[in-house]
Amino acid sequence: MNVLNDYSCSWIKDLTTRTNIKTLKKDLNTHWLIIGAGITGLSAARKLSQIYPNQTIIIVDAQLAGEGASSRNSGYLVDSTLNDGFTSNKELENYKKKTDIYKLGIEVVNRFIKEYQVDCDWNECGKYFASSKEVDKKILENFSEILSKLGFQHNILFNKDLIKRFGTNFYNIALHTKGGILLHPGKLVRAMIDTLPENVDLYENSPLLNWRKYNGKINCNFENGSIKTKKIIFATNGFLKSLGIKPNYNFPITLTASMTRSLTDEEFRSIGEPKEWGILPVRPMGATIRMTKDRRILIRNTAEVHNPYKMSKSELNKRSIKQKIGIKKRFPQFPDDIIQSTWSGVVSRTRNSSQIFEKLDDNIFVAGCYNGSGIGVGTLFGEQIAIKASNENTNEIKTIEARNKPTWLPPQPFLNIGVKARLVYEKLRAKSEL
Ligand SMILES: Cc1cc2nc3c(=O)[nH]c(=O)nc-3n(C[C@H](O)[C@H](O)[C@H](O)COP(=O)(O)OP(=O)(O)OC[C@H]3O[C@@H](n4cnc5c(N)ncnc54)[C@H](O)[C@@H]3O)c2cc1C
Repeated sequence: MNVLNDYSCSWIKDLTTRTNIKTLKKDLNTHWLIIGAGITGLSAARKLSQIYPNQTIIIVDAQLAGEGASSRNSGYLVDSTLNDGFTSNKELENYKKKTDIYKLGIEVVNRFIKEYQVDCDWNECGKYFASSKEVDKKILENFSEILSKLGFQHNILFNKDLIKRFGTNFYNIALHTKGGILLHPGKLVRAMIDTLPENVDLYENSPLLNWRKYNGKINCNFENGSIKTKKIIFATNGFLKSLGIKPNYNFPITLTASMTRSLTDEEFRSIGEPKEWGILPVRPMGATIRMTKDRRILIRNTAEVHNPYKMSKSELNKRSIKQKIGIKKRFPQFPDDIIQSTWSGVVSRTRNSSQIFEKLDDNIFVAGCYNGSGIGVGTLFGEQIAIKASNENTNEIKTIEARNKPTWLPPQPFLNIGVKARLVYEKLRAKSEL
């Protein structure tokens, strides 16, 4: 089944239209094949080309490169998270392992933007975990203790301060972490495409239909062609399961987000002309909401089990209404038609929120499942899976592999029933924060 995305993501609309699109229409042989041209696949391709400048490297995507979740996210490059989807494991040793990976993720993205002089609206303003409920103070105090033990600079703020910073009196308590970056995901990923080296061949709008290993080679069939490869890296994240990759360890979740137009001078004044900010919810299913550099407001307040291949226009409109309500709750003075676009994107989840990073079989590798931290972790995992596939080891790989492996998931229909029930429960808990 093909991946059919809506064409309404504001981040993608901000970019110029690409013209050099190649679709696979022949049979090819290659040393390396990467399936999926999001942050992970593009980073793997870049690293492989540095290691093997004289080998052939092909990267293929079912849609336009980078136009999956990688350009459709909220643009938080995180140093720490309070919730991973709907789990919130804060056991110190595990939490440290997770943040060690985030730290490497920030470093690798930072290196990339410096090396290629990428303008992606990079802002080291940190981020807030905020709630309208004063009772959530307890959660933030516990979190603060963990952050202190691990040396993360942070502070807890209350309503008066928050009104000035956000321009809304909706929030009563927040924890600000100093690390963490806000950026424009579309611009970052476009730079990853534009800087692909010469020995990397990119094919787009060319879904992989099936694959199998035969006589030491991997044969991949696409709609109008095939590729035989010595080594393959799967970087399809939310679509790993549909290609039969670790089906009992990951599952797709569909998120939707909306973005307003830029606020007018008058609207901006009405909220006190705040600087760019980004808020993550304290309760797992609450809204992520962000004010961009150019005074737009992004909100994401849905996460659901849905057909990962497509969300219809009318389904998207329903989510857009929920997002309008979320914005009006915080900024009642804004007009009803302030939302400019609404889009969906697919992420991959594991049961214990660990990522997938492994050799599946001789010459077959996979990286994915980052929950809400794929900007940094995807860039890191992409580069490091390329190194692992080259039979090399690094300190980064040791850090990645020090984390627990994803745990086993029950088969369908039990999996969907369990996930849906958990989502409903968390949604009810976060009702005031949507
Ligand atoms: C609304 C939303 C908000 C988010 N917010 C954040 C955030 O603030 N910070 C953060 O770090 N992360 C966030 N994420 C998660 C982040 O976007 C992902 O973790 C990250 O993009 C994963 O990158 P990837 O390259 O592994 O996967 P993807 O970007 O999903 O790329 C996988 C690619 O594989 C392709 N593919 C699938 N099937 C096939 C096939 N059969 N053949 C060929 N190609 C195929 C797809 O077309 C896709 O382009 C968010 C995600 C969403 C949707």
